[in-house]
Amino acid sequence: QTAPQKFEFQAEIKQLLDIVIHSLYTEKEIFVRELVSNASDALEKFRHLQLTEKNLPDDQRPLEVNITTDDKADEKTITIADDGLGMTSAELVENLGTIAHSGSKAFLKALGENGQKNANLIGQFGVGFYSAFMVAKHVRVTSRSWRADEPAHTWSSDGSGSYTIETAPADTPRGTSIAITLKDDCADFAGESRIKQILEHYSAFVSFPVNLNTKRINTVQALWLRNKNEIKPEEYTEFYKFQAHAWDEPRTHLHFSADAPLAINALLFVPNENPERFGMTRLEPSVALYCRKVLIDSRPKDLLPEWLRFLKGVVDCEDLPLNISRETMQDKALIDKLGKVITKRFLKHLDELAQNNADAYADLYAQFGIFLKEGAALDFTHKEQLTKLLRYESSLTEKGKTTSLADYVSRMKEGQTEIYYLIGATRESIESGPYIEGFKSRNLEVLYCYEAVDDYVMSNVREFDGKKLVSADSADLKLPDAPKPPADENALSETDTAALVEWLKTTLAARGVAEVKSSDRLTDSPALALNADPMPAHMRRMMRAMRQ
Ligand code: ADP
Ligand code: MG
Repeated sequence: QTAPQKFEFQAEIKQLLDIVIHSLYTEKEIFVRELVSNASDALEKFRHLQLTEKNLPDDQRPLEVNITTDDKADEKTITIADDGLGMTSAELVENLGTIAHSGSKAFLKALGENGQKNANLIGQFGVGFYSAFMVAKHVRVTSRSWRADEPAHTWSSDGSGSYTIETAPADTPRGTSIAITLKDDCADFAGESRIKQILEHYSAFVSFPVNLNTKRINTVQALWLRNKNEIKPEEYTEFYKFQAHAWDEPRTHLHFSADAPLAINALLFVPNENPERFGMTRLEPSVALYCRKVLIDSRPKDLLPEWLRFLKGVVDCEDLPLNISRETMQDKALIDKLGKVITKRFLKHLDELAQNNADAYADLYAQFGIFLKEGAALDFTHKEQLTKLLRYESSLTEKGKTTSLADYVSRMKEGQTEIYYLIGATRESIESGPYIEGFKSRNLEVLYCYEAVDDYVMSNVREFDGKKLVSADSADLKLPDAPKPPADENALSETDTAALVEWLKTTLAARGVAEVKSSDRLTDSPALALNADPMPAHMRRMMRAMRQ
């Protein structure tokens, strides 16, 4: 046993520790996540060594993370131990005394960019190992490397300018144990139930057993990393219920992995019902973001487009740093790219469902179509894929059955260049109105749009497959010629027609009618009002509301 050797922290680490210790940062609990993820990394590295090295110390011990808490003693403590690859004394100096590694470096860089000591940054970055000092009076790291001839050492510090390293007892087992003496106002982290709750939140899927006071915490597997051919349907359902805190059965799920452009494993679910349907709540994005089974953010706001807020599940991306930040451009670009890959893939999944099981898709659409409409209208990046997924009743479908725009296009008549639609509360109200007549007599299909948003959707989507979407009540429609009705001896002469038009024009001018024309658009009704205003109806409604 040699005397403790004293070392100064690197200047950057001093600066970092100063902020960590003196910040009033509220999510102090993330130190548990950071230390467990380090333990899990160390175990993972040891598992790799087992493949390449011989005669490793304590090779037969199970690879585990063991957490113990003590809230009975005067000094409240929490200890996080692993039997991973461990650290030599040189590695203790390098890893825990310098800024060599990524997380804290990014933190300091952002501090520099912001030019201020912004304590909130800690939450976004995690700051890795140093987060222990948010709650610690004192931290002791005892570690023994996997390298056979390296003795064990203890690194210890109170987080002020320096730390010490001394040799540890010879019987110290391989791995690392981090013993934290808690600050008085952080004593609650010595409580078993508090730590259990934190572990269940952040570390439920860590692949090595995580034991708290010898009780196993993480029994749920990270289903998204398993081979999908070996997963039973009920396992997906169980996982969904656990992960989304749900009671229902999901309508559909998508389990996929990709290696390029990013290494992704994702498992996404569409719930049974849309809770927004009754207008009482607005959903929050809730596809959780993981990096190698460790939770980064359970509700990332910027990962997926807002119209996907009904999705549940998990996205695990190996290329993300655990302490990813929304502040740096580079990380933002990464999240953006990840979100796009997942959105595209999910839309493809819906398209496949629509092709292979039209009934299941129709049921899903009845609940969640409103979100797809929102996306089609607002999300320019995915508009094309989304428009393909829209479904409407039409003058050619049965009541209650719908058609896609693609199917509509395949039925278009020769010479027809536009897609027609009509907005109305119900099928009956549209079919009893005069607008549909000219289309029926010409055998032109018209889509029926029953929802308030459809007007907005149609005017934002504008076209599909190169065909314009046109409201069947617009004045400047040029319909292909209808078959001429047989000569009728009771028909008005041309002069009489002109006189009637003139009379209507003068009489109705006071009511705001701009133009009266005779036309062959109608077959049964005597007259109809057309919309000459190029402004879509929803815009007009908005303008009217604003004038009030
Ligand atoms: P990061 O995990 O992003 O590298 P941390 O601050 O969390 O940053 O950890 C710093 C370094 O300390 C790690 O990269 C690792 O080399 C070392 N380390 C931390 N905890 C352990 C541990 N339990 N076992 C072995 N090495 C560890
Ligand atoms: Mg770490």
